[in-house]
Amino acid sequence: MTTTATETDRRQRLLELTATLADDFATRADEHDRENSFPFENFDALKQANYTSLPIPEELGGLGGDLLDLCACQERLAQGDASTALAVNMHLFAIGSMAEQMAMANPTGMLMAGMMAQQRWIIGGGFTEAEIGGNWGFPTTKAVREDRDGIAGFMLNGRKTFTSMAPIIDFFAINTSTTDEDGNAVIGMFTVPRATPGIEIIETWDTMSMRATASHDLVINDAWVPAASLVGMRQPGDADVGANIILSWFCCSVASVYLGVAVGARDFAYQWAKTRRPVLFERPISHFPGVQFHAADIEVELVAARAVIRQTAREWLGGGLRERDDLARIVMAKYVATNAAVRVVDEAMGIVGAPGIFRRHPMQRFYRDVRPGPFHPMTNDVARELIGKAALGIPMEFEPRWG
Ligand SMILES: Cc1cc2nc3c(=O)[nH]c(=O)nc-3n(C[C@H](O)[C@H](O)[C@H](O)COP(=O)(O)OP(=O)(O)OC[C@H]3O[C@@H](n4cnc5c(N)ncnc54)[C@H](O)[C@@H]3O)c2cc1C
Repeated sequence: MTTTATETDRRQRLLELTATLADDFATRADEHDRENSFPFENFDALKQANYTSLPIPEELGGLGGDLLDLCACQERLAQGDASTALAVNMHLFAIGSMAEQMAMANPTGMLMAGMMAQQRWIIGGGFTEAEIGGNWGFPTTKAVREDRDGIAGFMLNGRKTFTSMAPIIDFFAINTSTTDEDGNAVIGMFTVPRATPGIEIIETWDTMSMRATASHDLVINDAWVPAASLVGMRQPGDADVGANIILSWFCCSVASVYLGVAVGARDFAYQWAKTRRPVLFERPISHFPGVQFHAADIEVELVAARAVIRQTAREWLGGGLRERDDLARIVMAKYVATNAAVRVVDEAMGIVGAPGIFRRHPMQRFYRDVRPGPFHPMTNDVARELIGKAALGIPMEFEPRWG
């Protein structure tokens, strides 16, 4: 798949917009991190710039970006404020995959995507639970069929954790265990408006990393929704082939956020190395071999990580990676890039040395913020099992699982 001049122009335009936002957010990132506060003003700015509609087609009111644009922009945004980039990513990957499914002539998706863009609505939520962690195919949140005043609907009950952007979500995407019309057990994905009675946010977020994401708990207590809220169903269990679209958007974009954190750490460390000169020496520490070897490892990791993300996104856009067996390739992008990002930040800390742990420098924030990358689905353990089994020709669902 080759890049056209129109795509290059669009990416350049989107990156310029993102750079302006990121540079502004960087001025407040430390304050929000210290105070564990949610940067409402950043999200106002993202909406104002229509960044929240980046992957929605222009004819529906979005910025018309594709998955490669999203990756490039999210990498840049995270250099300014990783928390804002990660939080908005939960919305962007969801509407990106929705907009793509919409291109497959899904009228509800098209209506929803257009409204999201025009109203600047935010979608987020509602996959992770304390009971299941990242095993999203086994939700304990229940949706039970229940009609009200002759209207078909569902009663929802459960509790979700890690609900990024909780203070400003307009629609919660809530993953449930439910039944289809024939009474068979299925996973049901609901889109639930914030004002629905029974929806409540419990403020639990006080963490070491990504502190300004306000990823609180979402409590769903007898929340009744009409049947139209059910926007998707699939078989219970691990990711099926329908997950390729969601995982392509999620893995490539979330990996780009953590890559952006690594780039931020790299830039700070190089600036430090070029200006720090111990009195014993005539030149700054950038002239020391150890620092140069750190820099070499950083560059190699960054180039490799970016290449695997962009190659995966390019293949997806070119119509590839649609088979069940391709999940291993999709997940590999996140596995390679988030782990590389951790190593890059460690190397950058090695260059800066002890001053890197001071609160007054952003280095310690990069060091903390990069850590959760491997924890997002699929985690390192699950990704390695999937990739290893795929390499050896063993289906993920093979029983017994080991031995
Ligand atoms: C900053 C941040 C923001 C987030 N925002 C959101 C959000 O907006 N919405 C949302 O839904 N989620 C969100 N998440 C949740 C995240 O994407 C994961 O779902 C969550 O971190 C997984 O929880 P856990 O670590 O308890 O994982 P678990 O899946 O319980 O994993 C714990 C350990 O057990 C291992 N393990 C678990 N299951 C298996 C298995 N089947 N096979 C082998 N090993 C296994 C894992 O590898 C890991 O070592 C966010 C997370 C973070 C850190």
